[in-house]
Amino acid sequence: MLQQELDILVRAVVIVQRDVDASEVPAQIHLELVGKDGCRDAYHVALASGEFWAGTTGLSGEDESVSIYEVADGVQDLLAEVLRVPWPLCPWHQNVLRLGMLRADVEGQRPGREFPYWLCPASGGHVVSAVGSLHP
Ligand SMILES: [Zn+2]
Repeated sequence: MLQQELDILVRAVVIVQRDVDASEVPAQIHLELVGKDGCRDAYHVALASGEFWAGTTGLSGEDESVSIYEVADGVQDLLAEVLRVPWPLCPWHQNVLRLGMLRADVEGQRPGREFPYWLCPASGGHVVSAVGSLHP
């Protein structure tokens, strides 16, 4: 994996950690190198203990928005499978949120590009926030 791809994944973890912290889930997320995925290094999100959940192939790191989506998706699986914590929850409906890519401007990201958002399926479906911007 290129250093540039690893840097993108590290930034994605920082963004998703903001949502974990906002939810007051006591988990510190980091990247764990877990062997190879084909000829590529396979990084997965992991807890501070080193526990991880390899529900999918390794994280790509090729695109900023896609990497944030993948990390958020991985952390959602990690917290559910390892800690048994449904995360994140809609502040209004308490449903587990789903990820979706929306074309909307997010501070600090290139305008006009798709960015991952947390979506709630309740009340006909509604947007909760951009990934990394969940409110405590
Ligand atoms: Zn909701």
